[in-house]
Amino acid sequence: MISRRLFWAWLGWMAVVPCVWRNCRWFGPVRRGFATSGRELWLTIDDGPDPRQTPAVLDVLRKCGVRATFFVIGRNARVHPGLCRRMVNEGHSVQNHTESHAAGTFWAAMPSRAGREIQGCSEAVFEATGSHPRQFRAPVGMANPFVHLAAAEAGLPLIGWSASGHDGIAHDPARVIEKIRRAVRPGGIVLLHESHLQGMSGGERACTLLKLLNTLAADGYSFCNDL
Ligand SMILES: [Zn+2]
Repeated sequence: MISRRLFWAWLGWMAVVPCVWRNCRWFGPVRRGFATSGRELWLTIDDGPDPRQTPAVLDVLRKCGVRATFFVIGRNARVHPGLCRRMVNEGHSVQNHTESHAAGTFWAAMPSRAGREIQGCSEAVFEATGSHPRQFRAPVGMANPFVHLAAAEAGLPLIGWSASGHDGIAHDPARVIEKIRRAVRPGGIVLLHESHLQGMSGGERACTLLKLLNTLAADGYSFCNDL
């Protein structure tokens, strides 16, 4: 009896683990880097657009001559289409990060929900920018087999990351920079967030980004985009 329970517990565990394991490739490919012979990185910025953070982030990118990929949330893009247009006009790429970014439950999304979330965001990006997204990032990097299937049906490869600032729900500039600096390698994908967190007054994301770009430039890194 115990061994049967243990077996089912093990089976349940094995079914859930790859769904909540960030950037897990058990159910399909997830890009976590790119081939390069130089010290190049791919900068990705998630969870926008937000008028309290995004304009200053774009100002910093322009000032530093860096282009980024923005994985936007469909709902945000519908409310702030002008910010998505500004991203594209300034040479950045706007990609799919689901319609509602239900980070706590998306890992368990059934087929219809997975499809709706991906399609909804693609429509929002197209309405805002006139361009269809070509890439998809799952909220918190968690994707079950239905999510992989829905993304494949939409023609969107999954994009993960290799160096995260862990700044989605907490924002400590020194820690963000240190975490990324420790994790980056040539050909890596850097993950930052541009969401406006409780307690922020506005522009904090841009300040951190500027410090990070200066730090990485001093380490000899440059950025490429739209890979
Ligand atoms: Zn996100």
